[in-house]
Amino acid sequence: MEISILQQIKNKAGKLIESQLLNSGEVLDVRTLDASGLIEIEMHLPNVEMRNWNHVPYIKLRVDDFSFRDYTPFGWDADTATCSILIDSDHEGPGSRWAKELRKGDTVYHFRTESTRQSPHPTDFVVGLGDASGIGHLLALQQLTVPVSRFESAVIIDSLAGQLLHENYSPALNTMSTLEEMAGWIVKQGYCTAHTWFYLIGNNQMVTALRRQLKSMGHAHIQVKGFWS
Ligand SMILES: Cc1cc2nc3c(=O)[nH]c(=O)nc-3n(C[C@H](O)[C@H](O)[C@H](O)COP(=O)(O)OP(=O)(O)OC[C@H]3O[C@@H](n4cnc5c(N)ncnc54)[C@H](O)[C@@H]3O)c2cc1C
Repeated sequence: MEISILQQIKNKAGKLIESQLLNSGEVLDVRTLDASGLIEIEMHLPNVEMRNWNHVPYIKLRVDDFSFRDYTPFGWDADTATCSILIDSDHEGPGSRWAKELRKGDTVYHFRTESTRQSPHPTDFVVGLGDASGIGHLLALQQLTVPVSRFESAVIIDSLAGQLLHENYSPALNTMSTLEEMAGWIVKQGYCTAHTWFYLIGNNQMVTALRRQLKSMGHAHIQVKGFWS
C-alpha cells in the first residue's frame, strides 16, 4: 500500500516536471526501409530553433513513461522547423518499440536539443564511418560539410538496405556488410594523413576497433561518438 502511494506521488511529480520541461512536435511521416529495421520519422518541431545548428545536434525524445532516448536529426529545414531521424529498430528496447508504433499525425515529446560538439573540419576532407544507428549522424555531418564534395562516408549494414540508403539518402554513403570489409575499404581509399578528418559513430566496440585501425595507419584526426554497447 505504502509503496503504491509513494509510486503515485513519484509518478505525479515526474509528470509535473516533464510538463514543465518537455516540448511537443508532430509526426509528419513514417517510412520503413524494407526489412532492415530502419525507420525514418519526419517531424515538425515548432519550438526548436534549427538556424544555429552548426554542430551535429541530438534530441532527447520520450519513448515511454519516463524513458528517453537520444536520436540525431538530419535533413533539417530551419524555415519550416522540420527534420527527420533514422532509428535502427532491429533489436528489443523501448526506443525500438516506440519507433515501430509511431504513425503520421502522432505527437512526440522532447527536451531541448543538444549539441554533440562534432562539426566537420572547415577545409580538410571529412570521412564519416558508422553503423545503422549512426546513419542520421553521418547525414547531419554531410549536411554541415560545405562543399559536400569534401565528404565521404561508409556504414555497416545489410546489402539490401544499403542499396536503398545509397539511392534515397546519399550517393556519398558507401555500404559494407562487415567491419572487416570496412577495414579493407579504408586501406584501399589511401586517405592522406595530414588532411583527412575521421568521425566514427555508433556501437562502442565498432568505433573503438576503427579508431585503433586508423591510428595504426598513422591517422591522428579522429573524432569518436559511441552510442551503445
Ligand atoms: C547522441 C546520441 C545520438 C543517437 N542517435 C541515434 C540515431 O539517430 N538513431 C539510432 O537508431 N540510435 C541513436 N542513438 C542510440 C539511441 O539513443 C539508443 O541508445 C538506441 O536506439 C537503443 O535504444 P532502445 O531503447 O531501442 O534499446 P535499449 O533498451 O537502450 O537497449 C536494448 C538492447 O539493445 C542493444 N542495442 C541498442 N541499440 C542497438 C542497435 N542500434 N543495434 C543493435 N543492438 C542495439 C543494447 O546494447 C541493449 O542490449 C543515439 C545515441 C546518442 C548518445
